[in-house]
Amino acid sequence: MGMSDQEHCIQVQRVFHKMMRIVLELLIEAEKKGMEMASSNGLIQDLFPLISCYTAYYPEQCLVACTKYSTCFKCCIKATGLGNLESAEAWTVSWTTSIISEAQNYSEAGKGTPVTKSRQFHTQCILHDIASTIYRPFWTGFPLCNIHQTIIPAILHQLYQGVFKHLVDWCQKALGAGHLDARIRTLPPSYGVRHFKNGISVPSQISGGERKNMAKILLDCLIRVMPKEGILAIAALLDFIYIAQYSAHNPTTLDYLDDALRCFYQNWDYFIKIGVWEDFNIPKFHSLLHYITSTKLFGTTNNYNTELFECHHIDFVKEGWRASNQ
Ligand SMILES: [Zn+2]
Repeated sequence: MGMSDQEHCIQVQRVFHKMMRIVLELLIEAEKKGMEMASSNGLIQDLFPLISCYTAYYPEQCLVACTKYSTCFKCCIKATGLGNLESAEAWTVSWTTSIISEAQNYSEAGKGTPVTKSRQFHTQCILHDIASTIYRPFWTGFPLCNIHQTIIPAILHQLYQGVFKHLVDWCQKALGAGHLDARIRTLPPSYGVRHFKNGISVPSQISGGERKNMAKILLDCLIRVMPKEGILAIAALLDFIYIAQYSAHNPTTLDYLDDALRCFYQNWDYFIKIGVWEDFNIPKFHSLLHYITSTKLFGTTNNYNTELFECHHIDFVKEGWRASNQ
């Protein structure tokens, strides 16, 4: 009998953690005792390699951190509280692993078939917003790795393909079918700005670059057709997206980031009032609350932007695939 889709998904997640463990296992000893490595000037130095940053898109972030889908992988806020302006207490590795091992002990102590035990494990994990598929996350045993902290902001996937995508969708609904497209089509061509001659409601998959071009013109097309509250919410979110990409930050610029987010939270009600969205319990929006802490810990977002790896994906994977017999 073949596997169901759900069983297949669980096995894929387990294989992912096992493979990551194999790839990274050697680092555990190196993290504890250090290892000799040659630097660019030829000197041999003692280094202590750490898993410090992990960049991924949302489903993989949940998979890596072993948190339940639709919750936050950094703090223990409940799915129904994701729309609050404050984050909750930060997840720690010891907390996550203790929930997994307690759930495992509980299910093994109970009576029943392997299927029943697996269900018990699932129930216990889900109660605490932990993914119920992984018994041994790949990062256990790394003395200095806090996997929840290592997951860093993703400009492309969180901001442009997440938050901004929602924003465009709401604007289209708020203005009525075709109205936003009509305004976009009538924009005069101008240097450095993409002219969307067919509007932006194209059904095909939209790249991050296209989203960036849309972000440049969206606000202009809403002036005088959207009330002030909506305009403020969109302007604040666009500010957030741009400030988050500054190539240098200081306490003042981080305050700008915080101000932009607060302004958005003060005005986002508009989209709920007009009925284009039900609530803001959306993980990608909630993740914006963690940008300032991550920037303080890991530096500006251009240090770890996924766009770099997306480019490599084209050069190293897609071109090879097209040139081969596929
Ligand atoms: Zn959070």
